[in-house]
Amino acid sequence: MSNALKISHIPTDAPTSAADREAILAKGGFGTAFSDHMVTIEWTEGIGWHNAQVRKREAFKIDPAAAVLHYAQEIFEGMKAYRGEGDSVTLFRADQNAERFNASATRMAMPTIPQDLFLEAVDALVRIDKDWIPSGNGSLYLRPFMFADEPFLGVRPAHHFVFCVIASPVGDYFKSGPKPVKVWVSKEYTRAAVGGTGAAKCGGNYAASLVAQAQAYENGCEQVVFLDAAEHKWIEELGGMNIFFVKDDGNLFTTPLGTILPGITRASLIELARSKGLTVEERKYSFAEWQADVASGKVKETFACGTAAVVASIGEVKFDGGSFTIGNGDSGPVTNALRDELSGLQRGKVADTRGWVR
Ligand code: PMP
Repeated sequence: MSNALKISHIPTDAPTSAADREAILAKGGFGTAFSDHMVTIEWTEGIGWHNAQVRKREAFKIDPAAAVLHYAQEIFEGMKAYRGEGDSVTLFRADQNAERFNASATRMAMPTIPQDLFLEAVDALVRIDKDWIPSGNGSLYLRPFMFADEPFLGVRPAHHFVFCVIASPVGDYFKSGPKPVKVWVSKEYTRAAVGGTGAAKCGGNYAASLVAQAQAYENGCEQVVFLDAAEHKWIEELGGMNIFFVKDDGNLFTTPLGTILPGITRASLIELARSKGLTVEERKYSFAEWQADVASGKVKETFACGTAAVVASIGEVKFDGGSFTIGNGDSGPVTNALRDELSGLQRGKVADTRGWVR
């Protein structure tokens, strides 16, 4: 079904010069630079979605009583546009981002957005800011989000929301580049409980994770490994990535869905690994088992995965009371093969037989 709402185009009258843009793109990094435009669409109770525009990126005017500032009614997505061969631009499984966005919206008592409107908004921004897509290893990170801006201090779902898409040219997610990362296992803080919002991509989950993230940095680690909220025993996921383990026979397992974010990279890797003839189990796995299996050699590799870093090998694990190294601390062969295949697919360099790339 085609969406009736048209996105009006009001391009900026002060675009970044080509020289300035090239200088920004050359810097790399993650999430600090932004393209010239944004898409905004409003939703009003009783009216629905309206006022869709692609326009110059600028600050919002927001009432101090806006619900999002008090009760955090906010959700977001993260996806990337890649520069392919010639003038082509590829998006990876964007329909899955639209679907997850709506699942998050439902969990947070927010309106859902028609999938074709979500995709049109993303496409409109990529089209108008396509010169901002870095070449080489970089990509244009796209951030669709929605927040409650109704000025109202009562606690109930808001009656007015803004959907927005912004874009940020990015290089490597981790400062260390593609080298293996160190992770901090938090035994003190948890991220999500059964019945909570762990499976939704809402800002509040990330706010709650930052104190543990700060501890990870203090301990020389890039990411936090969160354990379950009830027993502080079972491995869930990282602050912004899912986690996979590679056994000594080359087969894999990962933690089950429920309280974790259902990663699109996670789902894609499960399919890719299975079609390479590997088995992938989704099962509960405790921190104690991980430690023992790495020591005995039963687990040879562990990696984190997500849109931002794609596949990042975990080299060292630290926690209150100790640390251990996985394998010899380097990225292992199964991790490398899956990373190469997935990033090749995303960049249009590996043939796409599944209709994942657009
Ligand atoms: N878990 C969390 C908490 C995340 O923030 C992300 C990033 N969106 C992921 C997992 C990975 O999800 P995806 O592969 O869809 O980027």
